[in-house]
Amino acid sequence: MHDQQETPWNIDTLLVHGGQRRKTGNAGGTPTIQPIYNSTTYHYEDVDNLDKAFEGTTAAGEPAFVYARQSNPNAHTLETAIAQAEKGVGAVAFGSGMAAIHTALLAAGLVAGTKIVASKDLYGPSIGLLQKVFVPTGVQIVLTDLCCINAADFIRQEQPDVVYVETISNPLVRVVDLDAISSAARAVGATTIVDSTFTTPYLLRPIEHGFDIVVHSATKYISGHGDSTGGVAVSAKNALLDQLRSYAILLGAMLSPFDSHLMMRGLRTMALRMERHCSNALQVARFLEEHPAVHKVYYPGLVSHSQHALAISLLGQKDYGGLLAFEIKDQSRTAAYRFMNHLQLCLPVTTLGDVFSEVSYPAVSSHRTLTKAERDKMGITEGCIRLSVGIEHIDDIIHDLDQALRA
Ligand code: PLP
Repeated sequence: MHDQQETPWNIDTLLVHGGQRRKTGNAGGTPTIQPIYNSTTYHYEDVDNLDKAFEGTTAAGEPAFVYARQSNPNAHTLETAIAQAEKGVGAVAFGSGMAAIHTALLAAGLVAGTKIVASKDLYGPSIGLLQKVFVPTGVQIVLTDLCCINAADFIRQEQPDVVYVETISNPLVRVVDLDAISSAARAVGATTIVDSTFTTPYLLRPIEHGFDIVVHSATKYISGHGDSTGGVAVSAKNALLDQLRSYAILLGAMLSPFDSHLMMRGLRTMALRMERHCSNALQVARFLEEHPAVHKVYYPGLVSHSQHALAISLLGQKDYGGLLAFEIKDQSRTAAYRFMNHLQLCLPVTTLGDVFSEVSYPAVSSHRTLTKAERDKMGITEGCIRLSVGIEHIDDIIHDLDQALRA
């Protein structure tokens, strides 16, 4: 279903009004919020129309649905809204971010004998997916630092079939030069995939920087309320969109109508939430930088961040995301645990991007499977804490962090 239309709206407006309002059945009015369609299958007037529906559109050119594993009207609305926001030709919604990533890798043509160059800073399970699912099929994986200035040269030299990065790395919030990476990949004919979970289309639209497929864990900022799990893959090209859709149907990884509805609800307030996440995160980063119990703060909005200039060129002068990391001066696990156990507002949990401020300890969560030596090599010390700054009042967040750091 390639029914994306260019709109003149700004991203904030697109997120509020994205998707399409449709009349439902014979009802007189058009609901401003789409009803939830739980139906497993769809009945047509005659078999000619059913036959046409299998192609994805009705005789009148409207989106057509035949079976819930293939698509549903609520997922379709979410896909339309996100594709508009990301400026793609279309999108596919999935039951999780991992399902979106798996399908994107297949759609990009990762089969036996092909090579992928991927960032070594990827989300742990994304590396696990490459190693456990794709390596046994004969895919060659090269994990390297794609946040460094030599990244584009490395891609030209390696000549991969697929390049896979995250816009901002976890947990040390290193920034990827999307333009340099996409132009090097294009020069060697590689398909590019980027996980933009931390940036969202509010901060950055990687298709405008030459990327082919953008994936999100919609569980994070898109849902935003910690009550729905999902993923999205947006394509810049119709051929890749068709591949995404056909693999998604075969893998059975569709997002349910109810979760699609929750994601749409999240999307409508995402601009407002992101604005607050970003302004709170910048203030928290500046506060932590001055704190006597803190050794170092990682946040792309800080002048002290080694890629601050790149962050400005990609994200602009104002919003740098809601995620930051910092090292407690006493670089020990005991000190990190003591800090986390004393928090009263910020939640020590294994997610990010919710309305709540959330802390995690990478050594036992996202980077648990690595040895201490491997983590040290990546710069993730025993004192490293990741903080997903929520939308609470800034004074309350800072007060909580301060009292826990002093404990
Ligand atoms: N990508 C990133 C950057 C993530 O942080 C996560 C989850 O934390 C995922 C992908 C996977 O998403 P999900 O948990 O929705 O499958």
